[in-house]
Amino acid sequence: MGMEQKGKIIISEEEIQGKVRELAGQISKDYEGLNPIIITVLRGAVYFMVDLTRYLTIPHRIDFLAISSYGPAAQTGGVRITKDLDLDIHDEHVLILEDIVDTGLTLHYLLRILKERGPASIKICTFLDRAAQRIADLHIDYRGFEVGEAFVVGYGLDRDEKFRNLQYIMAVEE
Ligand code: 5GP
Repeated sequence: MGMEQKGKIIISEEEIQGKVRELAGQISKDYEGLNPIIITVLRGAVYFMVDLTRYLTIPHRIDFLAISSYGPAAQTGGVRITKDLDLDIHDEHVLILEDIVDTGLTLHYLLRILKERGPASIKICTFLDRAAQRIADLHIDYRGFEVGEAFVVGYGLDRDEKFRNLQYIMAVEE
């Protein structure tokens, strides 16, 4: 039950920080003058958000929400907001940060809920993307890295609430 975990480092700390700066540069350019609301989906994406926003060069606001799926999302197709935003996103430019998009179903349903609130625009930025697993028709506006089939931990991503604090991304043996 220590911090040891069998696995392979697939993305190093240096690669992560380089990519986060690159994304922040792009987002700063694209959102110039728009004062976006950066929404972080708790809890995994918090680590990404903290690093990303430190490199943003534009005014922005941050907010958080938490969701839980009604059972396996793939079967029941729904998410419930368990902690809602504090900010009103009506007429605001919204950027959602995720740790990883897999089937895309979670974000698909979340987008549907948030779009009803009438934001001026809504885009998605995910740190990791497992596009081969995609079920939902989802447009990803910004992505850090593409990953393969193996379950990954680190940089916010957990397995049973462990390994979030690793500085790198590791593919683990199940
Ligand atoms: P989706 O609805 O896109 O299938 O599910 C996305 C969510 O599943 C992510 O936000 C994350 O919580 C979880 N997830 C999917 N793949 C992985 C993975 O490889 N590692 C970890 N730690 N979580 C994952």
